Amino acid sequence: MKMICIGRNYSEHARELNNPLPETPVFFMKPESAQLRNNMPFFYPAFSNDIQYEVELVLHISKVGKMIEPGFAHNYFDGIGVGIDFTARDLQQKAKEKGLPWEMAKAFDFSAPVSKFIPVSEFNDLNNIRFGLDLNGKRVQDGNSSDMIFNFASIISYVSRFITLKQNDYIFTGTPSGVGPVKIGDRLEASLEGRKMLLCNIK
Ligand code: MG
Repeated sequence: MKMICIGRNYSEHARELNNPLPETPVFFMKPESAQLRNNMPFFYPAFSNDIQYEVELVLHISKVGKMIEPGFAHNYFDGIGVGIDFTARDLQQKAKEKGLPWEMAKAFDFSAPVSKFIPVSEFNDLNNIRFGLDLNGKRVQDGNSSDMIFNFASIISYVSRFITLKQNDYIFTGTPSGVGPVKIGDRLEASLEGRKMLLCNIK
């Protein structure tokens, strides 16, 4: 499996990192080895001094698809969860300044804690899904899918022009504003529609 991650999909977050708003989705990938499942702790890696959280809605891809039209995109995912796109912001900033790829900063081992998935059929309105992140019990990020620049259908359609989607792939759909650093001893809790879905202790 692979994880495709959308960057700059919430305008306030793009602004907080001084990035221009994209005209087409920006995406990058995390490999299978980036997965962190079952609320396992995240061990702070030695190569960074600025690991930051980004809470995101995550789509579970349900079947193979390529060149998917937006109107058919709903046939290609069957679950929605929350995940954290851990980012080594110091490495990413250096890469950005040099125009180099982001993989070192984004795709490293265990950089993607992901919750269980809720069946799509349990959501009333995919364009109005609330999610958020608490750091040590305090709300730091609040998101709603209504604020995405590119909605689920646009993302799936755009990405599948370049990359075949396969069953059990994940799509991270971008983070709202409020990203920030973690330190050893911190506790992150992500919620979806008011339900606690994901716990991640930083060790
Ligand atoms: Mg992200």
